[in-house]
Amino acid sequence: MAIETSVQTFKNLINGEWVDSISNVTFESTNPADAADIVGRFQASVEADVIAAMESADRAFQTWRNVSPSKRAEILYKAADLLEAGLEQYALELTREEGKTLASSRMEVKRSAQTLRYYAFEGLNISGETLPSEDPSISIYTKKEPLGVVIVITPWNFPISIPVRKIAPALVTGNTVVFKPASDTPLIALRLVQALHEAGLPAGVINFVTGSASQTGHALVTHPAVKAVTFTGSTRAGESIQRSVRLSTRVQLELGGKNPLLVMEDADVEQAAELAIKGGFELTGQACTGTSRVIVMEEVHDRFVQALIEKTKKLSIGNGCRQGVEIGPLANASQLKNVLGYIQIGKEEGATLAYGGGQLTDGEYAHGYFVEPAVFTNVAASMRIAQEEIFGPVISVIRVTSFEEAMLVANNVEYGLSAAICTQDPVRIQHFVNSIQSGVVKVNRPTTGNAPHVPFGGVKMSSTATYRESGRGALEFYTQIKSVYHGI
Ligand code: NAD
Repeated sequence: MAIETSVQTFKNLINGEWVDSISNVTFESTNPADAADIVGRFQASVEADVIAAMESADRAFQTWRNVSPSKRAEILYKAADLLEAGLEQYALELTREEGKTLASSRMEVKRSAQTLRYYAFEGLNISGETLPSEDPSISIYTKKEPLGVVIVITPWNFPISIPVRKIAPALVTGNTVVFKPASDTPLIALRLVQALHEAGLPAGVINFVTGSASQTGHALVTHPAVKAVTFTGSTRAGESIQRSVRLSTRVQLELGGKNPLLVMEDADVEQAAELAIKGGFELTGQACTGTSRVIVMEEVHDRFVQALIEKTKKLSIGNGCRQGVEIGPLANASQLKNVLGYIQIGKEEGATLAYGGGQLTDGEYAHGYFVEPAVFTNVAASMRIAQEEIFGPVISVIRVTSFEEAMLVANNVEYGLSAAICTQDPVRIQHFVNSIQSGVVKVNRPTTGNAPHVPFGGVKMSSTATYRESGRGALEFYTQIKSVYHGI
């Protein structure tokens, strides 16, 4: 168990100044591998802090909107360099705060720097169009303008790469930002803000307020100066935000998933088991695109389950900072309770817990939120473990007897974020790509993983957004079109 030495208290960033909350109250961010290890103390912001941050962002918008795209890009490039220069420190901090392995943290910080550069470049391509005019003395064109103050609210599972894929396109299009990170992972979020601040963002262009969903989050999304809210998190929180915002607020909600991997009768079962493990257990199952249902043709069912269990047994579980660890802890106590609760529900529903699912409590696990990856078989498609997002390392294997049945089962959930198929059959692949109700589709690849230049988002209850996150189209969310009729 770690002994508290000197725990640092971190501040909000408002109008270019690092400041304490008016509440004078802080909360702790702790290490999920060792709950006694306090990573830092952060401001428990209240409505007055939110108002100060909103006013600062609103003021800064008046000048930032007119800063040239190349100047904005320069700052983003510099912030990317700063993130990369601090890569090792930031990766360690991310693992200490969130629990994922050091390799995953390094990749996430690197990916965040790439995303900053990607949008720095894309910001130079924002363009309107020239339209035909019936009167030759009038030219007609459109221009794209920023919206104003954008609220960024993010979850803990990708605590730097999700914020950056919202903040970078918001800034590069001339908006100002007030950012509230998840309370489990405020430190790595603060490192991103620090990099942007040190790279030269003018005061008020980015503001950072930490705090709870009910106080800080609610005050942010309901403030009258908000022009847009971009949120990633649970469907329940997304619904609550949708109910709270004003009619004029543009809203982007990226929500949960219940992602299937289909294993066809021609699949290489070793490869299929690897895909299931990568998608379902890496990141301790805490990815919105994580594989939570494996829909397997009966011809390969038993061999697949055997391969999956054999490979799962070999996974090394532990503190993500330790060399060789493949599965870190769950991110917090309520995650642990939730995942263990679903494992119990699965057993009560009559599914067979074929492997794992126990809490680990001895030795290095004694003070963290560790659970063995779980494999359920004999799962009926209607069971709660096959319908509800668990957000942990729990795979439900569903046996099917035809491709048509596999597709019915795959689509019969309220979510539609990512879906994968393991087969070499081109006809099946085409049918799958065309008929699966999912925003992201993978063929012989895990359900997890996406690149900064590729549109990302879901259908059904996985996303309410008109515009996709990531990729060129992401900039559309942060701009509005003005139509100009220009006479002589
Ligand atoms: P969460 O919904 O509990 O919290 C996300 C953020 O929203 C936090 O910062 C929280 O403080 C804030 N928040 C919650 N309720 C709010 C409210 N009413 N008003 C304002 N702010 C509010 O989610 P979490 O537990 O941090 O993350 C896990 C969830 O995120 C999972 O459901 C997962 O599927 C989802 N997720 C989705 C994607 C995606 O791109 N679709 C990516 C990652 C995670």
